[in-house]
Amino acid sequence: MKIRILGAGPAGMYFASLMKRHDPSSDIVIYERSPRDATWGFGVVFSDRALEFLKADDKELHDYLAPHFENWPEITVVHNDTHVPVAGNGFASIGRLELLNLMHAFVERLGVRIEFESEINSLADLGPADLIVGANGAFSWLRAENEEKFGTTVDWRANRFIWYGTTKAFNSLTLTFRETEQGVFCAHHYRYKPDRSTFLVEVQDDTWHRVGFDTMSPEETTAFCERVFAKDLEGHAIISNHSQWRQFPAVWNERWSFENVVLLGDALRTAHFSIGSGTRLAMEDAVALFKGLRDCPTDIQAALQRFQQLRLPPMKKIWDAANVSIRWYEDMDRLVPSLSPVELAYSYMTRTGRVSHDDVRKRDPQLAAAYESLHPKEFA
Ligand SMILES: Cc1cc2nc3c(=O)[nH]c(=O)nc-3n(C[C@H](O)[C@H](O)[C@H](O)COP(=O)(O)OP(=O)(O)OC[C@H]3O[C@@H](n4cnc5c(N)ncnc54)[C@H](O)[C@@H]3O)c2cc1C
Repeated sequence: MKIRILGAGPAGMYFASLMKRHDPSSDIVIYERSPRDATWGFGVVFSDRALEFLKADDKELHDYLAPHFENWPEITVVHNDTHVPVAGNGFASIGRLELLNLMHAFVERLGVRIEFESEINSLADLGPADLIVGANGAFSWLRAENEEKFGTTVDWRANRFIWYGTTKAFNSLTLTFRETEQGVFCAHHYRYKPDRSTFLVEVQDDTWHRVGFDTMSPEETTAFCERVFAKDLEGHAIISNHSQWRQFPAVWNERWSFENVVLLGDALRTAHFSIGSGTRLAMEDAVALFKGLRDCPTDIQAALQRFQQLRLPPMKKIWDAANVSIRWYEDMDRLVPSLSPVELAYSYMTRTGRVSHDDVRKRDPQLAAAYESLHPKEFA
């Protein structure tokens, strides 16, 4: 089978590796606009559960990647100066560049060709193929140019975020909320290698305007964020890597393919970074598309239908949870001043509705007990 893939991100590369291992005679080329060693951003996280899925689906890749992860067993919620550890939530992280480099080596060893510095801007540039996979990320032109065929909706969310790094090595996945005169600042931060952490700063739109970030230079912006989180950074600098304020597009498609063209990963649907599942979802999409093609090897249309049928139910659950999570952060100017540190940690843990009080009790009995003691009538 002749397969052409747009984008060497986790979705495109993982799909290529599954197809090539299944059928070494398949002719697979991935076109990637960036050079081999270029990427944006810092680290990405996988929950323990996400890694379990990968282990179940693909032990070979799991065992290849696992030694490169940083691991920690808990989350910490910081409410101004009070730290609330939340047990029972294991996470692992890795630099995005390191993950991509490991994946490049993995797929190239199998015989998949990656054409770096090849920006493809029309289907005609790809030439004829049995299957064309649009794995070119959240801002996919392939999706944008075919919105009617895909039934695309893009919901731009109001909060502003900026993806930084820092040299401070944090010991757990931490959500730090700091109240300032202009509004609440939230940092999502975690170590992804021994001397580096991701440090993503998020604020509500009103706060962003009150601070005047719209007229600040990149250096002034970094310095402002360093002042807000000075106690957390403990003298370490924030590192910028073309970092700029962005808003999150919640992308969805009713139809995932037309003719022999299919979307995968962030091009197909985005999931807010606060649930830490974007890379996992992209890789699970790849597994489902592979299974569709394996089950219907001689009929591309049937295979693409099977892909959507297999993947829609589990993906929709996580996508819905991610969208509830987005809205929780869009309310932080109200939540943080009105909740105690324990209540904020509890509200964070239960924000998507997928974790019940019983679940909190199982994961972290101390947090559940502390919350119950603050709400005796509810638990009488
Ligand atoms: C701020 C932020 C934090 C995140 N944190 C996490 C996290 O902690 N954990 C997690 O799992 N996920 C996280 N994600 C999400 C994660 O990065 C994505 O969900 C994941 O990378 C999606 O994989 P993908 O392969 O679909 O797309 P991408 O990784 O975006 O890859 C798409 C590729 O296509 C290439 N491309 C685009 N256009 C063209 C073109 N015209 N021609 C050729 N190539 C092209 C791009 O260069 C890119 O390499 C985060 C995302 C953001 C924005």
